[in-house]
Amino acid sequence: MANWHVGEVITNHRWTKTLFSIKVRCPAENFIAGQFVRLALQIGDDRVQRAYSLVNPPGTDYAEFYVTHVADGLLSPALAALKPGDNVEVSYPASGFFTLDEVPQGDNLWLLATGTGVGPYLSMLATDVPWQRFKHIILVHAARWSNELSYAELIQQWQQQYPDQFSYIPVVSRENVPNTLNGRIPELISNKQLQQASGQTLDDNSQVMICGNPDMIKDTKTLLESMGLQKNLRRKPGNVTVEQYW
Ligand SMILES: Cc1cc2nc3c(=O)[nH]c(=O)nc-3n(C[C@H](O)[C@H](O)[C@H](O)COP(=O)(O)OP(=O)(O)OC[C@H]3O[C@@H](n4cnc5c(N)ncnc54)[C@H](O)[C@@H]3O)c2cc1C
Repeated sequence: MANWHVGEVITNHRWTKTLFSIKVRCPAENFIAGQFVRLALQIGDDRVQRAYSLVNPPGTDYAEFYVTHVADGLLSPALAALKPGDNVEVSYPASGFFTLDEVPQGDNLWLLATGTGVGPYLSMLATDVPWQRFKHIILVHAARWSNELSYAELIQQWQQQYPDQFSYIPVVSRENVPNTLNGRIPELISNKQLQQASGQTLDDNSQVMICGNPDMIKDTKTLLESMGLQKNLRRKPGNVTVEQYW
């Protein structure tokens, strides 16, 4: 059963008009990197709750969330307006199966994200697990504009720490920017630009995790299936593990 903590907002960082990260002080609860909790606020007469992936790794005494401000949404605008010292309720235990212990072994691990879908990967990469299990890890973060490529500094630390084991490929769809690929993830797999940029293969020896925009997930899954990579299910292990936010 869910156990609701009253968390106190530590920081609420605005990356862009539509993206923010909120850090909440709450007791360190066990969870597996990649899982999500629920956040809740009283809005008028209603208590509104939604699921959010944890960005922080297990073992911290705060919880961090990377959130899209959905203009006509119910909860996300209210979360965006929170200030340090404000309260927000956080439900534990965390849940979800978008975790590395659900992913079978493979030569390399592709982490594909659009927008806030990068959040669960940041939690995973801050643990030892992916570095111990996979020969190579490729993080692809796609956004419309380059200023939406949040957390680039944190990600660059892993590039320095694991130069031979880690590739970070930022992708931007609506502008041409040096050191980023231009386009959408499915097309960049299909024309092999992601494979070339990382120097890695993407085949049935790979494990792929996908999180973010539903259209990207659908198109990428279809493409990967045509390449022989099947959805990973507990009852039938495969290559493609997915988290869908909406
Ligand atoms: C397992 C899980 C984990 C999630 N983790 C995150 C997370 O880490 N960060 C996050 O921002 N959201 C996340 N979400 C989505 C989140 O739960 C809410 O749906 C979102 O914040 C919108 O809530 P709202 O009340 O503002 O909008 P609502 O009034 O509920 O409106 C919902 C509509 O908002 C749009 N929408 C929802 N999420 C997004 C998004 N991320 N980007 C753009 N449009 C969106 C869709 O059109 C959806 O139909 C997650 C959802 C699930 C199921």
